[in-house]
Amino acid sequence: MKLLTYRYEGVERVGALRGDEVIDLSPVAASMLELIEGGPELLAEARKVVEAAAGGPALAAVELRAPIPRPRKNIICLGMNYAAHAIESLRAKGLPEKLPQHPVFFSKMPTAVNHPNAPVPLMADVSSQRDWEVELAVVIGRRGRDIPASEVYDYIFGYTILNDVSARDLQSRHHQFFYSKSLDGSAPMGPWIVTADEIPDPHALGIRLRLNGELVQNSVTRDMIFDIPTCIATFSRGVTLEPGDIIATGTPAGVGMGMTPQRWLQAGDVMEAEIDGIGVLRNVVVP
Ligand code: MG
Repeated sequence: MKLLTYRYEGVERVGALRGDEVIDLSPVAASMLELIEGGPELLAEARKVVEAAAGGPALAAVELRAPIPRPRKNIICLGMNYAAHAIESLRAKGLPEKLPQHPVFFSKMPTAVNHPNAPVPLMADVSSQRDWEVELAVVIGRRGRDIPASEVYDYIFGYTILNDVSARDLQSRHHQFFYSKSLDGSAPMGPWIVTADEIPDPHALGIRLRLNGELVQNSVTRDMIFDIPTCIATFSRGVTLEPGDIIATGTPAGVGMGMTPQRWLQAGDVMEAEIDGIGVLRNVVVP
């Protein structure tokens, strides 16, 4: 199922896409977090509602929201998790071109979450080096700690797209990823969550980003240095993961920082982050 959060007739609801129609799932759950926390039983109920529903508004008639508009915690992120991107980043910073030996973790604030088709504020007074990063995001469906790599897929609810919009100058000035990737609006997410049953192999997905129609990132999720089981098994060692937690798995090469000359987002730029089997997440940069 493609599960989405949307606004229609002034009300925010959780729903499912059936063809071109949005089926209201509010009889089953008040929010996406509630639906995820309901586990397989509630998901089965949602399926029945979708099958039995008479119909719903057209997708074009609703306002899409981030599938989880307000995560309960920071979004867990992987840095330098595609070799070509790790190399372009290190080269741009003049650092030795050495790939990470262990997953590199950081996070983004929940207040950074942004919505499909929503504007991304450039904040030129805060940063002059805003950059794009298409990423496959994993949504956790089951509580767990010390999850063995062999069992990780049992804990995954579904997948979505996240654009890890970054501020490179803040990254180097403050020696971290956290602040530089937490500016308001810098985590567009969506357009929906595709449930795990519809993505049997999350490492076989084309992943790309078009900037004003030009293909700037173009890779496949199999190129991750640390695959999803490794990332989740590593992070959950000593840390409890809970339903609704989001893990962004890193971006492939083709960001503005790695270009010669470097290229930064400008007001009016259109970013289209796309992953096979999920869809397209489109956002426009505004002043
Ligand atoms: Mg990233």
